[in-house]
Amino acid sequence: MGKRKSTRKAVKKEKEKLDTVFNCLFCNHEKSVTVKMDNEHKIGFIRCGVCPATYQSPINYLSAPIDVYCDWIDACEEANTKKRRAASPPADSRRRPSRPSPPRSSQPVDRFGVPDELDDVEEY
Ligand SMILES: [Zn+2]
Repeated sequence: MGKRKSTRKAVKKEKEKLDTVFNCLFCNHEKSVTVKMDNEHKIGFIRCGVCPATYQSPINYLSAPIDVYCDWIDACEEANTKKRRAASPPADSRRRPSRPSPPRSSQPVDRFGVPDELDDVEEY
């Protein structure tokens, strides 16, 4: 029974360093984009340090910054295809201004005589 000291050769502690820096899709700068993982709110933030490009995507505990970055790429591609489609709008342009009418305050405004601001215009 040998007291074998566990002398396992420490395999280079290469703790998978996750990339959090990527190239920007907008300004094409290399490594100008950083991904921040907000695990508390389960959101991944992307921000370019060169141009104002930002993006955020929902993440989970398995998500890696690269996932957020990929989401961003997808989103950009989708936006591009949409744009392309928008360039040639279909026959039935379903543009319906569905703006919810602002809730009118049904309460009668109680106006009491608001005194006009006194204009003390001094005449010269
Ligand atoms: Zn950029």
